[in-house]
Amino acid sequence: MAAPQDPQSGMNRPNLSFTTVAVIGSGTMGRGIAQAAALAGYQVTLCDIARDLLTAALEQISVSIDDGVRRGKTSEAVAADAKAAFTLTTSLAEAAQAGLVIEAAPETLDLKQSIFRQLDAAAPSATIFASNTSSLSINALAGATQRGDCFLGLHFFNPAHLMKLVEVISGDDTSDATLAAAEAFVASLGKTSVRCKDTPAFIVNRVARPFYGEAFRLLGEDAADVETIDRLVESLGFRMGPFRLIDLIGCDINFAVTQSVYDAYFGEPRYRPHPIQQRMVQSGRLGRKTGVGFYRYEEK
Ligand code: NAD
Repeated sequence: MAAPQDPQSGMNRPNLSFTTVAVIGSGTMGRGIAQAAALAGYQVTLCDIARDLLTAALEQISVSIDDGVRRGKTSEAVAADAKAAFTLTTSLAEAAQAGLVIEAAPETLDLKQSIFRQLDAAAPSATIFASNTSSLSINALAGATQRGDCFLGLHFFNPAHLMKLVEVISGDDTSDATLAAAEAFVASLGKTSVRCKDTPAFIVNRVARPFYGEAFRLLGEDAADVETIDRLVESLGFRMGPFRLIDLIGCDINFAVTQSVYDAYFGEPRYRPHPIQQRMVQSGRLGRKTGVGFYRYEEK
């Protein structure tokens, strides 16, 4: 589809005046991002592969919005508007009609590339595409589309409706206008952005690798148990110890990110995944989302 072009650079002019945001994937992160966008006044198209996943996600978002009202963080009126702002779809082509598309699907390169290829074929070429990937290359994802200039990473943190920081990651072709539009969007959510380049794991996850890695090594060597390691780290001032945090993130996501960083650095030993991570994933103990991880949870 024809897009307005910048007369000097010949680049697509990104769509800066959008009111609709599409979120692809209604899992842990997609829900939080969608909730933040709805509370900020955007219409939100939430997309997943099955209807029941979408309805479950919307129910949880609703509960979380109501919780915000109870705690005095959100007014009744804002909450009602936010809950009414959602359109649920299993069609990527429908989601592609939003002004900004944020992908929060599982951390698999092939899957994300395939999603972006389909979105690219359906969206106007000035629509900005963002990936919430934790560790995959923004250039590799942008390469699946014809809109490198309107493509970037928007890396939210978990829980995305609460955490203030968002990494704004530029690929080699991302235009300044796209970065500025993305930063304006992040600010409109009441969040703070930090710009970074397309390096493996960006800034925060890179810094966090040894945090998880040493904890697994301690556990693997039987130096201490899960609770002791978490308690010790929390007593130093961290809000959550490594294992409590991995349960919140999802053991599968944490493992996929570790593998991806390890591969991106061609097997750098510092980033080597631990067999315990693989065991947790193979046994389906993924953390809070499955009701059991390093700890047991009453509700899924
Ligand atoms: P998740 O497994 O909880 O959710 C992924 C969702 O994507 C699921 O609902 C799944 O059904 C859906 N999905 C799968 N294929 C799809 C498709 N073709 N089209 C639409 N939806 C599809 O994963 P998550 O924890 O929300 O992670 C999503 C992304 O966010 C990953 O890239 C991850 O690295 C990143 N991330 C995760 C965290 C975290 O703490 N979990 C933090 C920051 C970033």
